[in-house]
Amino acid sequence: MVTPGTPTADGFAAGRPQAPAQQGRGTADARLHALVGRLTLEEKVRLLTGRDFWSTWPLESIGLRPLLMSDGPSGVRGEVWDERSPSLNLPSATALSSSWDAGIARRYGACAAAEARRKNVHIVLGPTINLHRTPLGGRHFEAFSEDPLLTGELAAAYVRGLQRSGVAATPKHYVANDFETDRFTVDVIVSDRALRELYLLPFEKAVTDGQAWLVMSAYNSVNGVTATEHELLETPLNSEWGFDGVVVSDWTAVRSLRSAEASQDLVMPGPDGPWSAALAAAVRDGRIAQSVVDRKVLRILRLAARVGALSGFETPAAGDGTPEDGPGFAREAAAEGTVLLRNAGELPWRPERLSRIAVIGQHATQPRTQGGGSATVVPSSIASPLQGIRAAFPGAEILYEPGAVVQDGIIPFAPEAMTNPVTGEPGAHVRLLDADGEEIFAEERFASALVYFGGDAPIAPARRLEFATRLTPEKSGPLRIGFASVGLGRIFAGGSLIGEQAATAVGTDLGAAFLAPPAVSFPVDVTAGQPLDVRIELEPVKLEGGLSNALSVTFGTELPPADPDALIERAAQAAAGADVAVVVVGSSTHGESEGYDRTTLALPGRQDDLVRAVAAANSRTVVVVNAGAPVIMPWRDQVSAILLTYFGGQEYGHALADVLTGTREPGGRLPTTWPAEQGDVPVIGTQPAGGVLRYDEGIHIGYRAWLRTGTEPAYPFGYGLGYTTWDLGPAEVSGDNSDAAATIRVRVTNTGDRVGKHVVQVYAERADSAVDRPVRWLVGFAAVHAEAAATTTAEIRVPHRTLAYWDAGWHVEPGTYTLRVGHNVRELPLALTITL
Ligand code: BGC
Repeated sequence: MVTPGTPTADGFAAGRPQAPAQQGRGTADARLHALVGRLTLEEKVRLLTGRDFWSTWPLESIGLRPLLMSDGPSGVRGEVWDERSPSLNLPSATALSSSWDAGIARRYGACAAAEARRKNVHIVLGPTINLHRTPLGGRHFEAFSEDPLLTGELAAAYVRGLQRSGVAATPKHYVANDFETDRFTVDVIVSDRALRELYLLPFEKAVTDGQAWLVMSAYNSVNGVTATEHELLETPLNSEWGFDGVVVSDWTAVRSLRSAEASQDLVMPGPDGPWSAALAAAVRDGRIAQSVVDRKVLRILRLAARVGALSGFETPAAGDGTPEDGPGFAREAAAEGTVLLRNAGELPWRPERLSRIAVIGQHATQPRTQGGGSATVVPSSIASPLQGIRAAFPGAEILYEPGAVVQDGIIPFAPEAMTNPVTGEPGAHVRLLDADGEEIFAEERFASALVYFGGDAPIAPARRLEFATRLTPEKSGPLRIGFASVGLGRIFAGGSLIGEQAATAVGTDLGAAFLAPPAVSFPVDVTAGQPLDVRIELEPVKLEGGLSNALSVTFGTELPPADPDALIERAAQAAAGADVAVVVVGSSTHGESEGYDRTTLALPGRQDDLVRAVAAANSRTVVVVNAGAPVIMPWRDQVSAILLTYFGGQEYGHALADVLTGTREPGGRLPTTWPAEQGDVPVIGTQPAGGVLRYDEGIHIGYRAWLRTGTEPAYPFGYGLGYTTWDLGPAEVSGDNSDAAATIRVRVTNTGDRVGKHVVQVYAERADSAVDRPVRWLVGFAAVHAEAAATTTAEIRVPHRTLAYWDAGWHVEPGTYTLRVGHNVRELPLALTITL
């Protein structure tokens, strides 16, 4: 296997240019060079654009096999978005980062690697390491934190966990892709200092510390230049960090031949793209040097060698030690990432002490286990909170009430209610027809949410999709049947047309039209247990500029309008008659997705009223927040406990039950500040003006901005409770100018009566700095575990680079720094100093 570049001290680049060629890759690289030398210009150029949606071109003459890529990053979807090829659904990145535990991140990467190998995937398109600059960012759930060091440490661990098994990681999206509005075209104006200290730093860690084999360039522009043509792809990525891997474009982000002159290596998807023949011609007539093409080809071959797709190079090892039990790890990681925000002596619950539990909320039966967009995977099953609670409290009576409608729009048909009219098996029969009405494709499906995004289905030439199932309703009465997509739909029930309507895209964003399409439905009377033939025809509208071979459509039912007051009243009644109440609240799929940003941090629907009513009816109310990003919780002081569970992955319900019963401690600490009011958030905007979004706040995002404005958030960065209590101290620091880092040793005592986990956090301050500095910033952390009444020592290395600022180079200001040690950014009982 080809050895990656030399690691640098403390996982940061040395700060001065390193030539990748000097990094001693030796004979393997010499052989790769020789292979490049055997290729014609046409062969080389062909390798630089994808073969199709997810793979690169093979080249038999040199033993090169195609490289298969797949989205994740919370699992690995594989080549198709399809229930017939299910994937492990891990908790969202926000849950992962809440663990503040590089060990969890490494194992998360290892699980993804096992999934990738199972699906013959060489390259996982993740982790997403843009920053939580604003809580409104649509892909907030998919990124780690508002802090670059926490993001970078965990990203590097994830990358190592993945690549150790010979599966490549692709930290993305390089760079300043921290929101979704106008993401294809927006120009982000950001200072060099903010780029280096904030937005580039996670990439630096993922490359120098994690040794990532790819980086994905973003859609947006940075300071006037689109990312795929940007000098940032060379400096710092290659010239300073020693990156020797492949820069792959985000899908369709390469729009010019000029990007070939930049350090952009691979265009995705293929086979069409702006390089191909135009690039060959440019080399031939001397506008672009042959060496530019050769360098890109060399990198692609090196990547192929690393992932075992190039003959003659050692196949990578399958991993280190025992492979994780995927679902078992998903369950553990969900609990590790759960943040206990409030606990008025309520949790954990002993199952034998409860005889009646009211479980409330639409999310208790239809939870969100992942966010929307390209990060979506299709799990074989998910455990809902209601299922998890039922299993963990077998002796208790469980009363369920939905309480409020959160998820409006089309809900897919329940798989057990569908029979395929052609095969007689469970599921549905799906056909694609061309302009002449001829069938060009047919398949048997088990689900009614269909996404074609890659794969073999000929979506581009299809003019009509037909979905047919025999539906066996559970209840009698009127049922609304319909679809969510962009296009003209005709709905037939029992052989008759019950409605025909065109659904048009809301707004102009392609992603939004694809990922949150409008719904159309019509009523029909059904009888419980009486099968009904349902056929829905969809003539999809091709969105201008969209991927021609992609289509997303959900067939299903739409809930009839409900009386919201009656729903709340019934929930409150159930709570009043129970020992305790669990209310699961959360975001709907209309928020928290790739393709668009949120406009509000409020919980959708009447969920706030629901929580208040339930809490008034039962003083032992626990609220579970099933959202990937901050929401406003105006009732937070009126309930007895709050668990922030994020999008908990496929084992969500069981992980929640583990935490409720105390089988596992909620191990999370906030990786991002949670506001009390939306108006308090210091940096919130996602709306470009005239195509430009200015990061005018510079280096002050997240808690740095909150500390500067002095406003109190609901819960600060780093905050989270456990089921035990902790005492810190004494602490000592060693390391001076002669070292690259200071080392902090702090005694940590578990003062409670059960085993637990704590995250010790270290922040630097430089009150008399000659340059503008945050009030304090995170420089190190460690997750520690201790038995009841036991003391342990946390050792935290603080590289001097974490104290440096950027001004056309890294500078460590001489003088004295205060290092504060404690529980979160606002609760730091210990102080030390170091003088540099
Ligand atoms: C997303 C990427 C993703 C790619 C392929 C893009 O729209 O921004 O994160 O990897 O699609 O699905």
